[in-house]
Amino acid sequence: MTEYFKYQQAQLYVESVPLESIAQRYGTPCYVYSRAALTDGYRQFADALKGREHLICYAVKANSNLAILNVFARLGAGFDIVSGGELQRVLAAGGQANKVVFSGVGKTEEEMRMALEAGILCFNVESAPELDRLNSVAASMGKVAPISLRVNPDVDAKTHPYISTGLKQNKFGVAYTEALSIYRKAAAMPHIRITGMDCHIGSQLTETSPFIAAAEKVLALVDQLEAAGIVLEHLDLGGGLGIRYDDETPPAIADYAQSLLNALEGRPHKLIVEPGRVLVGNAGVLLTRIEYIKHGEEKNFAIVDAAMNDLMRPALYDAYHAILPLRERDEAAQHYDIVGPICETGDFIGRGRELAVTQGDTLGVMSAGAYGMSMSSNYNTRPRAAEIMVDGVAIHVIRERELVSQLFAAEKIIA
Ligand SMILES: *Cc1c(COP(=O)(O)O)cnc(C)c1O
Repeated sequence: MTEYFKYQQAQLYVESVPLESIAQRYGTPCYVYSRAALTDGYRQFADALKGREHLICYAVKANSNLAILNVFARLGAGFDIVSGGELQRVLAAGGQANKVVFSGVGKTEEEMRMALEAGILCFNVESAPELDRLNSVAASMGKVAPISLRVNPDVDAKTHPYISTGLKQNKFGVAYTEALSIYRKAAAMPHIRITGMDCHIGSQLTETSPFIAAAEKVLALVDQLEAAGIVLEHLDLGGGLGIRYDDETPPAIADYAQSLLNALEGRPHKLIVEPGRVLVGNAGVLLTRIEYIKHGEEKNFAIVDAAMNDLMRPALYDAYHAILPLRERDEAAQHYDIVGPICETGDFIGRGRELAVTQGDTLGVMSAGAYGMSMSSNYNTRPRAAEIMVDGVAIHVIRERELVSQLFAAEKIIA
């Protein structure tokens, strides 16, 4: 729990609003975000980096709601995008194209055209064939594309294998040993302008050392490039800083930022970072109501109205989210598996949790602001949850609950 989500008189609050009142008024399942928490996270980065030229590019895929993007845009953020769709979201939310970096291994020609048209800051190129394609797309538009190569530093991020991206066997970036020759090729392309180098080694990292190991490998390559006459303007050290879900002890934003600054000491480059999870994860909670309590032979189940389609992380990564009752009860606690209504055994939100609850109670699934709504689906023809942003005492609906009719509006029965 953070200072933005806490109990007062046995009720769980977000900022100055009891979460139960939101559940009653807007229904469940429902994501609730704290604007103050979002702002606080961003400011911690900005303060820590203020002595150096920098750009904080929020990783849009962590949570791409327009209201959230808008909060960061107003604070001065740039954005790290991985699709043309995310670029359109950033622009619709009031973000500036010239603060956007575009990552991803599979950029299409159409996405490249859209980004060149908008005038983004940098394409984070992930392969030699992508570089060729970008050069020819830019040529066809009479433009020059600013690029950085995403190098794969081959360091172990020591996180879940599905969210580790900086090892040799991963699909991301160009191999460390090939980077120099690809940069040379890029330098000779008429519609490419080399502006930087980037890396991103994984997500939910709870130690600083892999970030520093990656930065050191990047800097060694920067030296080789400079010796070859290729000078860079910026270094983009990616995102990946972890948060506390359970008992993890990730470094504070300020300490992480300071260790990046130390690693870059004496270097003239502008520093770009791409934080996602750490800016939104603990700023959000998923509210869900208990539909039934079921006492099985071996286990008790609390069957709730949120499911793996709303929050996929437990099913996908066996991820842990704290689960708290919105109203504390005096009764004795029992152990429950908190499960959704979907026909999959993997459809659980939490297992073996000690809770004093009864049918009809509402629970808060904590730390759900990152990779929650943005990974949600309509599996089982379940409309996606509503999203709410709280700002002090004010409650704003930032995404209406989906309607079932919207889910099959684009489908057609054939004769
Ligand atoms: C996902 C991603 C990020 C953000 O990662 P977090 O762990 O959410 O901070 C940053 N950069 C790239 C290239 C990514 O793919």
